[in-house]
Amino acid sequence: MPAEQVIELHGNTRYAKCLDCGERMELHPIRMHFDTHGKAPDCTACGGLLKTATISFGQPMPEVEMARAERATLACDLFLVLGSSLVVYPAAGFPRLAKRNGAKLVIVNREPTEQDNIADLVIHAGIGETMRVAVAPLG
Ligand SMILES: [Zn+2]
Repeated sequence: MPAEQVIELHGNTRYAKCLDCGERMELHPIRMHFDTHGKAPDCTACGGLLKTATISFGQPMPEVEMARAERATLACDLFLVLGSSLVVYPAAGFPRLAKRNGAKLVIVNREPTEQDNIADLVIHAGIGETMRVAVAPLG
């Protein structure tokens, strides 16, 4: 899937970001620096603190990604929730927003969620097995 079609609200662990300037750094050189010096290097751009690019509890949600996700939610006519307990907000608010905006809501999750009652279709099963069958007719 093209990177511009993926919105990572909670970041990822494949690279690091500077908490001060947002500079992106690959993990391998940081790891090598840590192994040599016993501590992570500072940001090469501003001297700030580097951290894996995940959003931890207490950190603000990324504004650009949240705005993109809201636009995509309001533009969709089908909202698929795949493998989420839907308990961590604000991300868990997007299915409700889509539903209020007239979209159909489908939830695929092994366990029940608090939003099953507003969904048009709920499937309590694994997402791999479910989506393999669901997309097979599309070729
Ligand atoms: Zn920096």
